[in-house]
Amino acid sequence: MKLIVVFCLATLAFLTQPVIGASLVLTNAKIYTVNRAAPRAEAIAIDERGVIIAVGSKKAVLAAAGADAKMVDLGGRMVLPGFQDAHMHLIEAGVNEVLCEFEPFDELDDTLATVEECLKSSKGEWVLGSGVSMTNLLDESDDPIALLDEIAPDRPVLILDDIGHGAWANSAAMRKAGYDRLEGNPPGGIILRTAKGKPNGVVLENAQQKLRNLAFPDTPANEDFAYEAMLETLKTMAANGITTVSDAGGFWPQGHVKAWQRALAEHKLTVRASNALYVYPDMPFDEQMAKLKALYSNDPDSLLRFNQAKIYVDGILEQRTGAVLAPYRPGAGIDHGFARGFEYFADGALERYSKALSDIGFQLHYHVTGDRGARLALDAIAASNPAPGPHRLTHLYLVDKADYPRFKELGVVADFQLAPSSLDPEYDKFIRGFIGKRADRLLPAASLAAAGALVVLSSDFDADELSPLVKIGAALARRKEGPPDIRTVIEWTTINPARLLKQDKTTGSLEVGKFADIVVIDRDITKVAVKDIGKAKVVATLLKGDPVYDPKGLFK
Ligand SMILES: [Zn+2]
Repeated sequence: MKLIVVFCLATLAFLTQPVIGASLVLTNAKIYTVNRAAPRAEAIAIDERGVIIAVGSKKAVLAAAGADAKMVDLGGRMVLPGFQDAHMHLIEAGVNEVLCEFEPFDELDDTLATVEECLKSSKGEWVLGSGVSMTNLLDESDDPIALLDEIAPDRPVLILDDIGHGAWANSAAMRKAGYDRLEGNPPGGIILRTAKGKPNGVVLENAQQKLRNLAFPDTPANEDFAYEAMLETLKTMAANGITTVSDAGGFWPQGHVKAWQRALAEHKLTVRASNALYVYPDMPFDEQMAKLKALYSNDPDSLLRFNQAKIYVDGILEQRTGAVLAPYRPGAGIDHGFARGFEYFADGALERYSKALSDIGFQLHYHVTGDRGARLALDAIAASNPAPGPHRLTHLYLVDKADYPRFKELGVVADFQLAPSSLDPEYDKFIRGFIGKRADRLLPAASLAAAGALVVLSSDFDADELSPLVKIGAALARRKEGPPDIRTVIEWTTINPARLLKQDKTTGSLEVGKFADIVVIDRDITKVAVKDIGKAKVVATLLKGDPVYDPKGLFK
């Protein structure tokens, strides 16, 4: 083993530990390092541990690499740090793929025909589907439970919605959850009712979670199911250049933690994962805290951590469940009687959970869409333990201007998705039906960045577009509240999420001493028109220098 001292071309700092020479050198590349001190390079050398030992000009990198390295000529393609997607639903996305598939805006007859097919094809006790729009369903029927009961009088049926905030169930499923005997709503959820006061078959927000947990109990068969679903979605991640995720689903009663642990143990993980555990508002407090504490993990040397608590503060604006400071406009959407939206954790419970979870060591990961929801989350963070932070708010459709400076004051990360759909004039018109002129200040990413918040761009896959390249293009196409330039939005998808996930010392940019988590792209996205960024293709993805996606065989 020969010992060499490697000089970092950017800073002239050197690694103190002995390293062997490079095992892999990428040359003839247009490297954008996300290191502001030395943003451009043409070659990079990686050692056996998957650590970058040189990055810079070809000459300098070759000199540092030693003679035994494998050379890969990238033919002028672009290299970026692997994308870090800090909010997505990896296992759910995989599970949704295998459930009976519904189209959100099908005619009612077609939807019911799909239910009948699903009943025939479902082998287990439960009949399970996903993809129905609850708003559309309720436009077409006042009593959706009766429609399902006619097709399936005995077996429980659960059809999840297209956005993760509602579900459609029959009477057999409602009985299993005890919802037929319940008066009013369960904690954190809404049970919609007929004029006679009986459940109408549509449940919103956390009321669906009990049904989900009953439908997907933590059995060996369901674990296998989640695991297999997950392996497929991991391939999709690699094909999109994503080397870090934060799975925001976190349905730990459904065996999802075990599925992740198995992927790690079987060396099938092709991403770093800093995952969340869902916090259920309807479970007994002490019992849930004990479970979450037992599932918490935060080893910085492991690819897999469960160090985030996913706390839903509110629902979504288009379901009138996002918690808003001023009431929704009358008329549009589902009428459930909550004029200023809905809170998952009422009467001080949000602070109680936040304090206890941050004391265990969890980073707090809040779902918020309304301006009242954002304020409630900021208040809860102010009352919580800052040590495991930075804590963060994700989605952030509406934020009151008075709360902008609080992100910097409290060190809170603003995690946006800036979906391509949010650029659509039809969406703008649609959302104005709910919130009127407040839509002028929707998704205030630029304002929060200007107010000193660390801004992150994530996907919310599979509720939204996954491709980071498509999202970068869409974010730049925003006429207001978008990133100022491509350099900034690349940071929002690489080094900023690395800072959020507290792995910026080892990932998020291409610098000596960091892991070679890398995406190779077919063109230099800093040089093409904004409208063409989304057309760029991922050619290969490396995790710690190992190819996890390489359909062209560049690294064979
Ligand atoms: Zn989400």
